[in-house]
Amino acid sequence: MRGRPLTRDAARLVAGAAVLVLPAATAYERQVVFEHADHAARLHGRIELEFHQRRAVICSTTAASPTACRSCGAPLARLRYIVAWQPLCGICGRRDLIAGAPVPARRPAGYRATGA
Ligand SMILES: [Zn+2]
Repeated sequence: MRGRPLTRDAARLVAGAAVLVLPAATAYERQVVFEHADHAARLHGRIELEFHQRRAVICSTTAASPTACRSCGAPLARLRYIVAWQPLCGICGRRDLIAGAPVPARRPAGYRATGA
């Protein structure tokens, strides 16, 4: 159980056994939530963020990966957002969560699902 459903003005961050509910009504509060989430992901390697009834897994990896953001096609940095099974860059991941609706999945030019 993750607790009660969130209101639209709150975000829930789950890092290991720790659960943190933060206010997310204003642009400033959302910025604080995302900065806290990114920091926690770097510390823990993987965290969950629930926001506007959307869930993201934020992963921090040191491994080089050929994966590109499914929305904008940019190469993914060490910190990536997984929303609805789609790997997204931080910019698209945040935009997706704030919008509360999935960003259109698009296969970036040159992207090969099968890898090398
Ligand atoms: Zn992107």
